[in-house]
Amino acid sequence: MNHYSIDTNCVQGTYRPKNGEPRVLPICQSTTYKYTSAEELGDLFDLKVDGHMYTRISNPTVDAVEKKINLLEGGVGAMCTSSGQAATLLAVLNIASVGDNIVSLSAIYGGTLNLFTVRLKQFGIEVRFANPAETDAQLDALFDERTRLVFGETIANPALDVLDIERFARIAHAHGVPLIVDNTFATPILCRPFTFGADIVTHSTTKYMDGHATVVGGVIVDSGHFDWKAAGKYPELSKPDESYHGVVYTDAFKEAAYITKARVQLMRDLGSTPQPLTAFLLNLGLETLALRMERHCSNALTIAGRLAQNPNVEWVNYPGLADSPFYALSKKYLPQGQSGVISVGVKGGRNAAVKFLNSLELVSIVVHVADARSCALHPASTTHRQLTDEQLLAAGIGPELVRISVGIENVEDIWADIQQALEKAGR
Ligand SMILES: *Cc1c(COP(=O)(O)O)cnc(C)c1O
Repeated sequence: MNHYSIDTNCVQGTYRPKNGEPRVLPICQSTTYKYTSAEELGDLFDLKVDGHMYTRISNPTVDAVEKKINLLEGGVGAMCTSSGQAATLLAVLNIASVGDNIVSLSAIYGGTLNLFTVRLKQFGIEVRFANPAETDAQLDALFDERTRLVFGETIANPALDVLDIERFARIAHAHGVPLIVDNTFATPILCRPFTFGADIVTHSTTKYMDGHATVVGGVIVDSGHFDWKAAGKYPELSKPDESYHGVVYTDAFKEAAYITKARVQLMRDLGSTPQPLTAFLLNLGLETLALRMERHCSNALTIAGRLAQNPNVEWVNYPGLADSPFYALSKKYLPQGQSGVISVGVKGGRNAAVKFLNSLELVSIVVHVADARSCALHPASTTHRQLTDEQLLAAGIGPELVRISVGIENVEDIWADIQQALEKAGR
């Protein structure tokens, strides 16, 4: 940690050029790195010394971005991945394998839900869903000796439930397992899960971190707080790795054992590597992250408040509104703002929701959230269109639901567009 505040670190981060070096983070578009002796390269392979050998494992441009995100989250190490999906997958596979199970909050991103319930099942990993409305005793019953981790999202996409991080960290730790938090919607600007007891943080950097809808990417950050050895159930970290000539990660890399293993073992074998050019673009997004989050949050709070007063609106879901069931949790975990994402029920059901969407002019219809440009999506006719109205209701996604991602344009322009579209939808 340095002594600068988080918004300064967004801009200047950890890349500090020396005399005569490029002011802007250079793009090292090279797959490989030159050494003068076979012995030097051998030491790299033995993990005896630090250095780059092949871009599937590490690259100077990617490394600078990883160090910046690690600084923003306050961890001991970070690893970028080719997508948010890859970050979630590797974060789990690093400590769970066939025969194990994981506990996940039930309100999570649809892509993660599919990964957990369909793909991980094929890998022999079972997922058990936790409903936060249940008591601690009920949640305790989900765990057994093969449980490896607890997973949740700071602000769930698209339900917008706010995670009680301290509670779930306490429950996970009581069972000797880490809490992994997907911090995509909050970003470290609004919430730093490590300060509330989370052990590992993941992100889809595709969303606010990039913020301009240019590059797909993900990242895993390790707090270094979880004691894998003491937990006694992570032999992949505390016993010799035969695929890496017997290295014991907890001995060789101490508190950075988890993130080192993820890189030298999983990234080596699975290869979901980010590219230097995409890391460069992600870094441009990170430079303005603090500034953008401030505007996303203030715009969204204004829009949510006005939506709640609008006669063509049935309901509004935004954790920053005082009548939200997550208002108290958002005061605790997201005191500076609750992101730019709102869900709204348009009066008149499916037809009115579609008419509302089709009447928007400034706000665009896209399959995306967390973009600088305001955008909207009707899940019932797009991402969830295979479901019947009954199934949609069971999934908590009514046919009237529209998800609005409030951008950083002038709030009066955004509101004027939403208002005129609601008027048309109500006719
Ligand atoms: C989008 C998203 C993901 C998946 O990220 P990709 O970069 O699209 O692979 C994971 N978690 C959350 C919360 C997301 O919003």
